[in-house]
Amino acid sequence: GTRRVLVTGCSSGIGLAVAVRLAKDELKRFKVVATMRDLERRQALERAAGETLNRTLEIRQLDACSEDSIRECVNSLPDRRVDVLVNNAGLGMIGPLECQSISAMQELFDTNFFGLARLVKEVLPDMKRHQSGHIVVMSSVMGIQGLLFNDVYSASKFAVEGFCESLAVQAMKFNIKMTLVEPGPVTTEFERKVYQEAAEMDLSGTDEETAKIFKQIYLPYSRKVFTSLGQTPEEVAEQTFELIVAKDPPFRHQTNRLYMPMTAMKHADPTGRLPIDTFYKLVFKHDRVFNAILSMMRMMTKKMGKTGG
Ligand code: NAD
Repeated sequence: GTRRVLVTGCSSGIGLAVAVRLAKDELKRFKVVATMRDLERRQALERAAGETLNRTLEIRQLDACSEDSIRECVNSLPDRRVDVLVNNAGLGMIGPLECQSISAMQELFDTNFFGLARLVKEVLPDMKRHQSGHIVVMSSVMGIQGLLFNDVYSASKFAVEGFCESLAVQAMKFNIKMTLVEPGPVTTEFERKVYQEAAEMDLSGTDEETAKIFKQIYLPYSRKVFTSLGQTPEEVAEQTFELIVAKDPPFRHQTNRLYMPMTAMKHADPTGRLPIDTFYKLVFKHDRVFNAILSMMRMMTKKMGKTGG
């Protein structure tokens, strides 16, 4: 039979691409419930969905920050059945900590972490009863490894990872699959919004040196990372699709092979020095080191490819 997939945050980016990829499955294995907070922003999704609209893809309202909205959406589905949840809605935040308000941080956690908690609370009891289901969560490489000026965002993704890692054991007992998708840089609205906010950010809350590091060193570094390593939302969607159709999906999946040597450093050195030293050099020691590390990453990725890793 067909599986019903509920995807959150489908008005743009990865969520939109995942919903459309599933709806366009040639084998028509999915009924996609593509949700978004604001239905007035449905145009891009409608356009991308094309003739799948109202066939294998329907659009519904869902605000990840509202339990009522989530319940209403799930209640509107036949038998409340959700076979696959793709928790994708999320916010980004960069900049010096001193320049962020606590309420903005709370809003980010309310979306990135509590949004997931609300959705899982809503669908897990039914999945347990059916002894089936798949919970797919859009995390990030920053859920594995922190990055400077991404303190709060990274913390929210660490929260997501800890939540899922704990829950995965219980889920397994009920035959429910869990998968964390961990993209590296992806070129979406998300990136654009984050940079626009960064450019307009009031940096008077921090000292001059920090402001300078953020604007003149971190932002250009980050742009370079996006242009040299960035994936498209469609690439992430394709891999997410493969994870959803897989018989035995992994618990963790990094979408960007070029980024893997970076995350591998965390496990290579239990003292934590290696990744912190490397990021320090990457950010502060200019182009030569960046290019050297980038070519090392390319080489390692090629080797991993040869051994099928
Ligand atoms: P995006 O901004 O294009 O998409 C995020 C979507 O979530 C938007 O459509 C937004 O409207 C929606 N959203 C925000 N708050 C919501 C709420 N309360 N209820 C419902 N929807 C809400 O960005 P994206 O890159 O497609 O991000 C999707 C996910 O991928 C996020 O969880 C993000 O953390 C993660 N991610 C992104 C990148 C990247 O570089 N872009 C990298 C790793 C992980």
